[in-house]
Amino acid sequence: MADISRISRARVRAFADRLGLLGRFSVLSLVSLAVLGLVLAHFFAGRIHDRAVATAAQEAELMVNFGITPQLAGADLDQKMSPEAINTLDSLLHAGYTSHPVKEIRIYSAHRRVVYSDNRDAVGTVEPDDAGLTTAIRGTTHAEVTKDHGGAIEVYVPLRYGDASTPAVGAFEVYLDYAPVAAGIRSDTNRVFLLLALGILLVWGVLFRIVAGASRRLRRQAAENEHQARHDGLTGLPNRGSFSDQVTSALATAAAGNSLLAVMIVDLDRFKEVNDTLGHHSGDELLREAGERLTTALRTGDVLSRFGGDEFAVLLPHVDSVEAAAAVAERLCAALEEPFVLHGLTVHLEASLGIAMYPDHGDDVETLVQHADVAMYIAKSSTSSFELYDCRHDRNSAGRLALLGELRHAIDSNEFTLHYQPKASLETGEVDGVEALVRWIHPERGMVPPDEFIPLAEQTGVIKPLTAWVLDAALAQCRAWRDSGLELTVAVNLSVRNLLDAHLPESIAGLLSRHALPPSALELEITESTIVADQVRALDVLTRLNAMGIGLSVDDFGTGYSSLAYLKDLPVSELKIDRKFVNNMTEDGDDAFIVRSTIDLGRNLGLQVVAEGVETQAVWDQLAMLGCDVAQGYFLTRPLPPADLTEWLAARRQDSVSPV
Ligand code: C2E
Ligand code: MG
Ligand code: MG
Repeated sequence: MADISRISRARVRAFADRLGLLGRFSVLSLVSLAVLGLVLAHFFAGRIHDRAVATAAQEAELMVNFGITPQLAGADLDQKMSPEAINTLDSLLHAGYTSHPVKEIRIYSAHRRVVYSDNRDAVGTVEPDDAGLTTAIRGTTHAEVTKDHGGAIEVYVPLRYGDASTPAVGAFEVYLDYAPVAAGIRSDTNRVFLLLALGILLVWGVLFRIVAGASRRLRRQAAENEHQARHDGLTGLPNRGSFSDQVTSALATAAAGNSLLAVMIVDLDRFKEVNDTLGHHSGDELLREAGERLTTALRTGDVLSRFGGDEFAVLLPHVDSVEAAAAVAERLCAALEEPFVLHGLTVHLEASLGIAMYPDHGDDVETLVQHADVAMYIAKSSTSSFELYDCRHDRNSAGRLALLGELRHAIDSNEFTLHYQPKASLETGEVDGVEALVRWIHPERGMVPPDEFIPLAEQTGVIKPLTAWVLDAALAQCRAWRDSGLELTVAVNLSVRNLLDAHLPESIAGLLSRHALPPSALELEITESTIVADQVRALDVLTRLNAMGIGLSVDDFGTGYSSLAYLKDLPVSELKIDRKFVNNMTEDGDDAFIVRSTIDLGRNLGLQVVAEGVETQAVWDQLAMLGCDVAQGYFLTRPLPPADLTEWLAARRQDSVSPV
């Protein structure tokens, strides 16, 4: 029994689920409105019936008041009625006081004896226990529906000689035909039923429309929410979560069919520059277009997703071979290498793409995505635009990836510090400037050299806050030295992205005034490639920095591939010959030639020439002989923490001689 009720309850629930919200509302509201309608109809039918009975009672009272009481005035109801009185009553009582045909009339004495009736047989009989009669003799009208006379309303009215305050002397009884009353009630009730049904249907219809509209809106909203939760708002592409799900199901299919599958990570090189330089609108437009191009380059069935930033992911659920995946990768990179036109400006981008294959490089989403990511980083630092994952990548790239994550927190965790390397005049041996070189003291790895993390910082955008930190720390140190009587200038290295930041001059001006330093206390070093990357923009920032009175220096000179022509247009005051030429100049004739030419070039352009990487006395001497202005290198000292450098300077001053 319990089982059956459980089963039927389950059925009802399943049915309700199938019906949906709107269906459930329709059924429930219709049933409850129908029940309400039935209750109302029943109530109204009762009222109609009661009114019909009350009307009959009023009509009977009319007959008594106007037909009978005047005839009986003073008569003794216990006496037999005279034939004249009977005749008068006969004619009077059928004179149309009532709206319904009269079936029988009786007049009772106070002793319940019938003294008059149009049914002559009843005259003289006594009605011993009729409750209605008793009520009337006690002075109150009583009316009810009875089955007598084939259905009638039976009314008893008290008879009095005087007004309502006098006691009843008998009772008048009339049977009115119920058939027309019943017909009236039926037709009234039917009308009420019909009106109620129409009203309820109308209400239900209106409610249905309202609820149907709301339910439609809810469904649409739910679908939209679902879409938003699974898609990237900017490009409309599936997001990371959705991508993972699709890879998971593709992996199951590939496993069942023993087939291959490829996951790719695509990253736009230089996207951050475009975003910084041209603004977010252009960046957004570029990402949207990149998404469209990638979609076009894929087959139907392949999945493209945006992971965020400039990172896209691709799933090739059916791929025949590694070569086929590589062909797709090539197509994708080619699609992104076509120039983008953003608000009239042509922008060239390149993409780096990493491929990981199932089953060779992983059999779950995370591993495949991570390996594709590693391969992508390898592609970024190599000349090819895409790379297939190779487990040999992992040793350095996994570390690299981990570094990337840690780099973001290193500033807040105070893990950076500055070392300073002096620059000395080759003529006098005097040190009037130092170069600030950043060091990352990693809590586990120890000191990480800048060559390892600066490129990562540039790729991830951390370079901006990092440079801001370096500038602030270097200027604070410069202030401290000046306060202790050491008039040093500090040189700080900038990277490409710093020069694309149009606010850099203002931020530097702010820092200088905060540390109460003149612009001449600061020098900025930029590499040739930095300037070449976006000459117009870089030139604007450099011109403004120069106008502020800050010394600008071309770092690593000779390693770039630019022509010398741009050099004369640059507002720089110093050239730093790259250490790889300086290092070997005493042994290698070519290097010596390059150093000599650079010194000449610098002199002709009116620039101060600095030789980096001076490690030996021989090099020092040769540079001095060639007329180079300044030297920097291990021959003087390695870069030192500020306290050590102060000591080094003090010791050097005491000796008061050049290290020559
Ligand atoms: P750089 O600006 O050319 O700095 C000179 C580099 O040469 C320093 O390497 C210095 O330690 C090294 N060096 C100096 N004298 C000698 C020498 O006699 N022999 C040899 N072999 N090397 C010498 P470090 O500190 O490892 O920095 C490497 C590069 O990292 C720097 O090259 C610079 O481009 C970059 N870097 C360092 N600090 C910063 C920074 O705060 N911001 C930016 N954007 N780049 C920085
Ligand atoms: Mg430098
Ligand atoms: Mg250098």
